[in-house]
Amino acid sequence: MPLNEERISAIVKEVVKQLTASRHIPDIVAGDNGIFDDVDSAVKAAAAAQKELAAMSIAQRETIVGAIRGAGESNAQYFARRSVDETALGKYEHKVQKNINASRLSPGTEELVQTVQNGDHGITITRRAPYGVIVSITPTTHPTPMIINHAIIMLAGGNTVFFCPHPRAQMISREAIQILNQAIIAAGGPANCLVAVKEATLDAVNAASSHPLVDMVTAAGGPGVVKAALSSGKKAIAAGAANPPVVVDETADIAKAARDIVESAWFDNNILCIGEKTVFAVDTIAETLLQHMQKHGAHLLTDDEARRVTELIVRDDHIVGEWVGKDASLILQEVGITPGEGMVGAVMVVPYEHPLVKIEQMLPILPLVKTTDFAQGLQLAYGTEQGFRHTAVIHSQNVERISLFAKTMQTTIVVVNGPAFASLGIDGDAKFGHTIASPTGEGICTTATFTRQQNVTMAGGLTFA
Ligand code: NAD
Repeated sequence: MPLNEERISAIVKEVVKQLTASRHIPDIVAGDNGIFDDVDSAVKAAAAAQKELAAMSIAQRETIVGAIRGAGESNAQYFARRSVDETALGKYEHKVQKNINASRLSPGTEELVQTVQNGDHGITITRRAPYGVIVSITPTTHPTPMIINHAIIMLAGGNTVFFCPHPRAQMISREAIQILNQAIIAAGGPANCLVAVKEATLDAVNAASSHPLVDMVTAAGGPGVVKAALSSGKKAIAAGAANPPVVVDETADIAKAARDIVESAWFDNNILCIGEKTVFAVDTIAETLLQHMQKHGAHLLTDDEARRVTELIVRDDHIVGEWVGKDASLILQEVGITPGEGMVGAVMVVPYEHPLVKIEQMLPILPLVKTTDFAQGLQLAYGTEQGFRHTAVIHSQNVERISLFAKTMQTTIVVVNGPAFASLGIDGDAKFGHTIASPTGEGICTTATFTRQQNVTMAGGLTFA
């Protein structure tokens, strides 16, 4: 019988049927475009979808990925508006940009590169195989960009996803899942590649993470969720908290450093984990740096203004929740400061002991500590980072200092002479990702991160040595 398209399609259907039967996955409960009443039904549906997806060709998977990119980009404004309305965090226009970046820049199936070993005894091909069903626990800070990013990279790897959105971002997260599922189905993909339950609760996270048909747990958030992922008993990838310092020494291009810091730290009101959170500037150039920052929209707080702002936003060594992700103008107005035209954030000169230096302050108020020299800046930056091993930035023209900085900080991301977001392929040559897995060491997570190595060895036969 000739191997035409009809015949290939019949073979694929038969293989999927046999694979599905072999894992004893019961009939799929319908779900509403991926949204289910209970965890068990949702996981079973995602497991059945994964078998279908894994049996498809790479070209078909790439078509599905393309459909997710299209749906993410065409809904970028809608997702952004609904995210701001629901979470009350960040800036609409920056959230639009984040949705577009996630849709366009997330890596796809091109990362599924096979390697070959060949010698006297035969040949081994190492291919990138899927894990299966992945539980993805997502933060409030980037609800839809992370769903778009994970949908692309996890499905490109042949996996399906059970999303656990943050309870404070669950409505727009569920809607994004439904919209992306519709796009996947329209592109010829299986139903329920992306699933979630109707109510986001910690019980649902725990039930999904320990479900026997779940193969991996990925979590992005603070210490609580990292601990939960690592104790799930599954293969876990944890992306935890951060407190990125930026060191500026006297050899740096000060004007550029100022622009980079302002643009990056105050992007989306500084709710990005990679965003600069404390500046350490060598004393001799600190005033010049501050002047340039002001030209780019920084309000330099006086000592009295800094005290009032600190009293408003910090309580018991924590940021007061209602100010996280808020516009600087709102924060300043609350303590009687009239912000100037075009102001995007505020900077305050503080001693190292100031609470904002140690807190991951996800809002557009930036502490700046003056240091006697580069060596002191490095030492204080190391203390501020607190071993999160996440992100650190340096502005310097001295290559020995740059090398020493990277080796000492030991962060997953080191950015040199650029904005922190250069590490995600925006204004820099790097791979895009929304998940920086520092505690578990995978770094910026991409398609390959969500695949396993499978070795196919043919003994004898093909020997070209
Ligand atoms: P969060 O820790 O409050 O919540 C993150 C997610 O974890 C949510 O879905 C939440 O429901 C869940 N969660 C929280 N505690 C849990 C527990 N004990 N068991 C199970 N699930 C739990 O974080 P957030 O405020 O939404 O996000 C901001 C934090 O996330 C910041 O610290 C930021 O640095 C970090 N973050 C890190 C990355 C990264 O790639 N490393 C990416 C985004 C955000």
